[in-house]
Amino acid sequence: MNDNKGIEPIIRVFCDFDGTITRKDSGDDFFRTFSSFEPAHSDLMHGLYSVKEYYEKVSSDLSLTKEALQTFCDSCDVDAYFGQFLEFVQKQNWTMCIVSDGFDIYIDEILRRINAEDIPAYHNQLQLQSDSQSWKPVFPNADERCSCFCASCKTKIVLGKSHPDDLIIYIGDGLSDTCPVHYSDMIFAKGNLSSYCNQHGIMHHNWNSFFDIIQVLKKRKPVLRDIARKERKKAFIAE
Ligand SMILES: [Zn+2]
Repeated sequence: MNDNKGIEPIIRVFCDFDGTITRKDSGDDFFRTFSSFEPAHSDLMHGLYSVKEYYEKVSSDLSLTKEALQTFCDSCDVDAYFGQFLEFVQKQNWTMCIVSDGFDIYIDEILRRINAEDIPAYHNQLQLQSDSQSWKPVFPNADERCSCFCASCKTKIVLGKSHPDDLIIYIGDGLSDTCPVHYSDMIFAKGNLSSYCNQHGIMHHNWNSFFDIIQVLKKRKPVLRDIARKERKKAFIAE
């Protein structure tokens, strides 16, 4: 039952970064380029580490220069239709933010490159230590109550930046997106996230590029999903 009959909900778009805004997983590529990615990543996928432990491990080996970082960021391909998608969202007067379990150091630079630095981006941080050589990962949105495949929990950001009666559109591709889709009304999923939604009976739209998302949103008015709204209310009361 809708308690706010006749009142249009505020629509908020939450969008993943790695493999969603960028075509490939730029987080994996970042550690593959600047750290000892393997065997740590395989160990993570085999469940030997938590995501937080994995990030602590690969960050401890991190070695990069400003120039190399710039070259890396310049080489990360962004979805060709992401700019058009931003224009579409602005035209609808929807709010949008980026939710990522990746790191500020490359995400902020890539967003600057594509003139999208004004979109609020919630991500982890890599802090350069006082020796000016070693790096420490910081997880500002970690949620000890949640055991999802994330160092920071994206649900915590989604719920923290919305009201239970708002309408949530979620766009993602990976395991770190599986937690927030339970709280979202309209879901665009590809890759592992699409498989997860299929396994858990979560209605979603498959997508390959932001062009597909724009086409669906032009044709279909987003509507609230009762079960997601109930989950948001439950979480809101528990806070
Ligand atoms: Zn979570």
